[in-house]
Amino acid sequence: MITSWDIIMLVHAMGITYRVPRVLDRWSLITSCDPVNLCDACRDERRKVMHEAAQFEVYGAFGSALMVMLEAMAWFIKPLIPASRKAFRKERLPTCSKGTCLAHTGQAAT
Ligand SMILES: [Zn+2]
Repeated sequence: MITSWDIIMLVHAMGITYRVPRVLDRWSLITSCDPVNLCDACRDERRKVMHEAAQFEVYGAFGSALMVMLEAMAWFIKPLIPASRKAFRKERLPTCSKGTCLAHTGQAAT
């Protein structure tokens, strides 16, 4: 017997599975590159990610996984419950200004 709750959980799990590699890709890109190649919004995100990573580091590998899961879940829940923004203490960062930003092009400007 499949209830609507099962469907919600399934969609939720798929959403996270879909989202996690993207979160990791983006974070590894913006944290490993030179911040001068990033726009202001992405530089802010870089600082935030590195700050959070330092806090979660206390928990070791589990902490890193938890941090990524929270980020992926926040993305999923946010559109449904506006209050979740407060719960996750995540403020919407200004979006990437694109252009020559490394996070947008995926490669350093030459
Ligand atoms: Zn950017």
